[in-house]
Amino acid sequence: MPLTGVAGWPVGHSRSPALHAAAFIDLGLEGWESQLLPIPPGVFAETAMALPDAGFAGINVTIPHKEAALALAGVQSADAAAIGAANTLSFHDGVVHASNTDAPAIRDALLESLGTPSLEGLRVLVMGAGGSARAAAYAAVSAGADGVSVWNRTPERAVALADSINGVEHVVEAGRPDVVINATSVGLNAEDVMAGLPLDEATTSDCRLLLDLVYGEHQTAVSSFGGELGITVVDGLEVLVRQGALSIEIWTGQAPSLQALRDAVS
Ligand code: NAP
Repeated sequence: MPLTGVAGWPVGHSRSPALHAAAFIDLGLEGWESQLLPIPPGVFAETAMALPDAGFAGINVTIPHKEAALALAGVQSADAAAIGAANTLSFHDGVVHASNTDAPAIRDALLESLGTPSLEGLRVLVMGAGGSARAAAYAAVSAGADGVSVWNRTPERAVALADSINGVEHVVEAGRPDVVINATSVGLNAEDVMAGLPLDEATTSDCRLLLDLVYGEHQTAVSSFGGELGITVVDGLEVLVRQGALSIEIWTGQAPSLQALRDAVS
């Protein structure tokens, strides 16, 4: 009975087990299961290394373990190595493989929403400088954006991000981007407001698409802002679904229906 799961600390809120279960049903994979794996930071590496013997084919990894997951892998995908973080581990013949499915999920969500094969000719602004901002900036560069800027509340972190990913620059103002990605945690709480972010009606006058990585039971601050201005908004659940589907494909060799996964988490 192959096992999968999601490891984080805390992780109780994660929708990944429901997503994985929906994928196994959609693919007709009987006996596959997904578990919540609450693992404190101090014991992540040793716990993860014990999972293959416990029957795990692979796991998703979330805050705060994405860097540690990359570090413990014997084989790192090129994307995960460039981003500096892994959200997917798979176990084969005693070897741990690390991948990052956040970046291709963000890239696919952007391209499909825009209806274009690449981001050529488009300026992308990423807000935030944590792990998901790194994946978002890398996704925008690899999709061929004409300019990728990173803004962060703490500017030094945006500088460090820009220094570590080719083709990314840091900015202290939003400019006039065509695409905006919110990779800050603003919006996680229902009462969060836009005040700390560099967006307003003027800076978004050219904006065609707003991708908000944050999701919750409520409508997020950035999604409400975009909706009020008539900007197309893609929400964080769409990225969650896509990164989960790509991880399932890594573990099982089969791609689940995105719609089945959307239905499971909406
Ligand atoms: P992280 O490493 O904790 O980074 C948080 C970022 O938010 C930092 O850049 C921080 O700026 C910024 N921030 C926090 N509060 C702020 C405020 N009041 N005003 C302006 N900026 C603020 O988190 P992460 O892992 O990158 O994730 C960021 C968000 O994306 C989370 O909400 C997470 O749930 C979501 N996410 C979604 C998916 C998905 O599949 N949809 C995947 C990954 C992440 P400072 O540097 O100044 O502290």
